[in-house]
Amino acid sequence: MHMSKSDCSIRASVLIKPGQIEMQSRPRPAPGPDEVLVRIACVGVCGSDIHYYRHGRIGDQILKSPQCLGHEGSGYIEAIGSDVRGFEVGQLVALEPSRVCGWCSHCRQGNYNLCPQVKFLGTPPIEGIFQEYYVFHFSQCFPVPAGVSPAAAAMIEPFVTGLCASRSLRPEPGHSALIIGVGAIGLGCVNMARLYGATCVIALDKLDHRLELAAHQGATHTLNVTRSDPLDFIHSVAGSPGVDCVYESSGAGQEVAQLMVTAAVRNGKLSVMGIPLEDELPLPIHEARRRGLIIHNVRRFANCYPAAIRLVASGKVDPEAWVTHRFSLEQIPQALELADSYADGVVKALIEM
Ligand SMILES: [Zn+2]
Ligand SMILES: [Zn+2]
Repeated sequence: MHMSKSDCSIRASVLIKPGQIEMQSRPRPAPGPDEVLVRIACVGVCGSDIHYYRHGRIGDQILKSPQCLGHEGSGYIEAIGSDVRGFEVGQLVALEPSRVCGWCSHCRQGNYNLCPQVKFLGTPPIEGIFQEYYVFHFSQCFPVPAGVSPAAAAMIEPFVTGLCASRSLRPEPGHSALIIGVGAIGLGCVNMARLYGATCVIALDKLDHRLELAAHQGATHTLNVTRSDPLDFIHSVAGSPGVDCVYESSGAGQEVAQLMVTAAVRNGKLSVMGIPLEDELPLPIHEARRRGLIIHNVRRFANCYPAAIRLVASGKVDPEAWVTHRFSLEQIPQALELADSYADGVVKALIEM
């Protein structure tokens, strides 16, 4: 690799304030002893990036000073800290966005998604990876085998939410599963329900092109909820007791609060992944109680990257199919606008460096 003066500065797409993004150059960072420097290859645009771009906040996480967004990434190992073993320069890695303390009781029990010290990429005030290089703790980097593209490696991040939720829901062979909302996270759930052996996989959305993709990836039944009543549909295809497993991956909040309970069978299970704008949801609690419904709240994910990478490398899950649009680093404002408008059949917009 040749080094020139220009190699010392990197390009970054910086959110200055809501609605305003600027390209800036910054010094290239260097890894500490237990870190690696990664040249970012691909980054997916997530709903949370759009929230920060539009409103400068998600709940009490508020953009206070200019920074980069972006957390669904892949990249190439560029430099390796002195204490790090097992990596090679040039290796393609999928990037886990949580940097955790490693020592609290949650980390030590393997539930590092609950680490109170977590620094999550692109969540203020933590810098994101809408920039050319980034320093990671080595434990956040997962090498992918040859044959997994940089785009597919970037899609591991949205995929693992559905994988993690499925480890709690455990749909059984022959079970029915409902997936409410089939953006990238919901599509991951469709794939996982299929892989667990669910024979009835129902996908709901408001966008036909997402439902087509869901059907292509394993949904047995799809419904556009703007056209007919979802509960009637669910009963007609899964039977009137309801579905065994419900994945809430829409974040539609009040709109789906009733449905995610009433769609479930007695002793059924519900996994809540979607992040609603509201602070409170009107859950029909007596319905949930009578059903003995088991409700899981999914806080991101832990210990999922190796399995997700094997599923993608083996061809059992094709998350690159979720990528409908590709943009450069300079085009991030267009990518955010497109993803926010749900226009042009977009499922996942990807930034390619
Ligand atoms: Zn995301
Ligand atoms: Zn911790």
